[in-house]
Amino acid sequence: MKEKNNMKTTTKGIHHITAISGNAKENLNFYTQFLGLKLVKKTVNFDDPYTYHLYYANETADPGTLLTFFPWEHIVKGIRGTGQATEIQYSVPEGSFDFWLNRLKEHNILYNKPAQRFDEEYLTILDNDGLKSELVISPEKDKRKPYTTDEVNENVAIRGFRNITLTLHNIDKTSKLLTDILGYKLKEEKVNRFRFINENSNEANYIDLVYAPGEQRGQVAGGSVHHVAFRVKDDEEQMKLHEILSNAGYHITPQIDRKYFKSLYFREPGGVLFEIATDPPGMTVDESVEELGKSLRLPEMYESRREEILKRLPEL
Ligand code: ZN
Repeated sequence: MKEKNNMKTTTKGIHHITAISGNAKENLNFYTQFLGLKLVKKTVNFDDPYTYHLYYANETADPGTLLTFFPWEHIVKGIRGTGQATEIQYSVPEGSFDFWLNRLKEHNILYNKPAQRFDEEYLTILDNDGLKSELVISPEKDKRKPYTTDEVNENVAIRGFRNITLTLHNIDKTSKLLTDILGYKLKEEKVNRFRFINENSNEANYIDLVYAPGEQRGQVAGGSVHHVAFRVKDDEEQMKLHEILSNAGYHITPQIDRKYFKSLYFREPGGVLFEIATDPPGMTVDESVEELGKSLRLPEMYESRREEILKRLPEL
């Protein structure tokens, strides 16, 4: 039954995660060549068109698989700490860790040996800028269609996000935001880690809050997550959420058109920037699945400056 007039609304897990990197080419090589993700959009920062905005995802560029970067060549390194999304968790198939461990060694990439958390095994890796990801073997089978390459085949390829971890000084208000407004519920907890699940989706539907009152405050810069976006099905759901969040006292932006989705932004009580993003129109609004990421896509407002922008963008 549809609850059309009910104020209760909810998100469907993670839509995308946006982070900041240094050198664009190194970032591209790490996420596409090494991790085997697909470059699904090559565009510019809509507020700073001489900077790329690169999107990496699965084959069909689905919400819940989209990791995006603003590469800034001379950015200082961020400091990992509280008030941040500190780890991105990616889902990989069972039995794939031998492949990934060999590959990490071969490519001289920083990692920690596999460990166990709740009922899953994970493998921590750092990219060139120090951004932390974890490859996670989840107990449930992940049915998403991966992108595959000559080196990273279907048996080992990343499926998309499973989870995001926020490290916070205090988790009470953030927990309440997750459970009362964003559609999550507490699933399990161990020591200072609280795992929430969003049952409106089967994928990219976990968030861990790590309660770290004694830890230093993080600084968002190179190698940090900039914001975490949650999925909603359409504009109507988004505007309902706008009202609910405003009524709950959050300062939330008006709707902003990001071409591939529409966005609202607000800061959660622990300090992390959150976004609410619509599923439509999606990443294939201006190129087909086969063409995704192959050419520079500019928003309408910059199309007349294409030549000049192309000249000033760094080499990929
Ligand atoms: Zn975003």
